[in-house]
Amino acid sequence: MQTLSRRLLLLGLAAGPPGAVLVHEHIMVDFAGAAKASRANYNRDEVFRVALPHLAALKQHGCVRLHECTPNFVGRDPVLLARLQEASGIELWTNTGLYAAREFIFLPDYAHSENARQLARRWVREAREGVEGMRPRFIKIGVDRGPLPALSRKIVTAAAYASKETGLSICAHTGDGLAAREQLEILTRNKVEPSKFVWVHAQNERDFGIHEKLARAGAWVEFDGISPQGLEWHLRCVRALAEKGLAHRTLISHDAGWYHVGEPGGGRFRGFTYLFTDFVPQLEAALTRQLLVDNPRVAFG
Ligand SMILES: [Zn+2]
Repeated sequence: MQTLSRRLLLLGLAAGPPGAVLVHEHIMVDFAGAAKASRANYNRDEVFRVALPHLAALKQHGCVRLHECTPNFVGRDPVLLARLQEASGIELWTNTGLYAAREFIFLPDYAHSENARQLARRWVREAREGVEGMRPRFIKIGVDRGPLPALSRKIVTAAAYASKETGLSICAHTGDGLAAREQLEILTRNKVEPSKFVWVHAQNERDFGIHEKLARAGAWVEFDGISPQGLEWHLRCVRALAEKGLAHRTLISHDAGWYHVGEPGGGRFRGFTYLFTDFVPQLEAALTRQLLVDNPRVAFG
């Protein structure tokens, strides 16, 4: 099957369904932490040169949109994304929110001192007015494994407030199934529809029963680590939900990329095409279309 899709590519035929969307990828990431994150840490022109060929390769597979999930203080750069969008012809979405995973090293000082209402106000403003000319189209937060500490719960609550005001969906990098359940509880208590919650990195939870539980509750379960090492596991995760009639609550992506700020030339950039060349050929065409074309539009508009 792999050879077939490669052959189709050589013939100039797209291997993916037309209109495909990748819901979780990265162009650039800076792991320095909020205290050290700065535009001075990288050369925007160099990142542009490194990333562009990967977007060009992706376009050949029929992909029209990529959600760039790098949060503020982790390397979010809307100016860079706008340039790449223009040059590649692939729509790039950026986000608002704050990343409280990895023990809070990506949180700025104000995330500690402000309350959830104040944080939400910042995100609503970004969503409405844009960030450096680009309007965030989803809320991205991050939490470690459950049980969630108070600071993480505050970030999730802020996301609930911001989602209610803007209608934007919330993508939450999530350590495990317990943290996913806790987040959904917080959102539901704040009257946010479960369908506004995307459980990012659900493949880290090995219990299919928890995937099923959240999908049945109406949340999106995202298996987004598709790679040569994770191929079999991701197929099992997707099939398990599909067999329960929950394919309409499932999202897939690579969590690939990216230019690593601080490494020479950006280090190793993992491309965005493996899903199309190796994962998708193992799924039925209708399911592929649902996962890559229909579901992203329902989940994010
Ligand atoms: Zn990611």
